[in-house]
Amino acid sequence: MANTGYIDTLKKPQTGTNTIGLYAVQCGECFKRRLISNEEECEVIRRNLSLLEPFTCNKKPDVSCADPADIEKDATRTWVIDKPNIPRTPVGFKRKLVLRRDFSKLDAHYVTPTGKKVRSSTEVAKYLEENPKIKGVSVTEFSFTVPKVVEETIPKDIERKPSAKKAKDSKPADT
Ligand SMILES: [Zn+2]
Repeated sequence: MANTGYIDTLKKPQTGTNTIGLYAVQCGECFKRRLISNEEECEVIRRNLSLLEPFTCNKKPDVSCADPADIEKDATRTWVIDKPNIPRTPVGFKRKLVLRRDFSKLDAHYVTPTGKKVRSSTEVAKYLEENPKIKGVSVTEFSFTVPKVVEETIPKDIERKPSAKKAKDSKPADT
């Protein structure tokens, strides 16, 4: 399996919305994780990864594989793993990922140049239709594919809704 997985990390939840707090990518050579400073940089790396160009430490300025890892993938943070092939966000739009309160999954939405939230391809199409001034942007440049939450890094004290399958025979937790 390819070891060039690109990983977003999420800070431990505080009050308010749980958005992605930190971004990290794993080096394809030494497997250390490097922090990525911002979302744009992440999108470039993600696109390169989808072209099968692995990330390596020396792509960051002044860093090499000999340097210690920036961050360890441990349970002090909740980690989410990005899916490959997310298109680069069109100029003027912002892609946002919000973690559900029960940590079950993330939801994706875009904020448009006029500050409107769009939550599906249908809404994007409608928005583009209503805003003909936004040119050269196609619905295919939007993706509502969300990263997967790494089960082992979900805080133990988070109340999870039992899944439909388990709900029938689940008992209240011991107190
Ligand atoms: Zn490295």
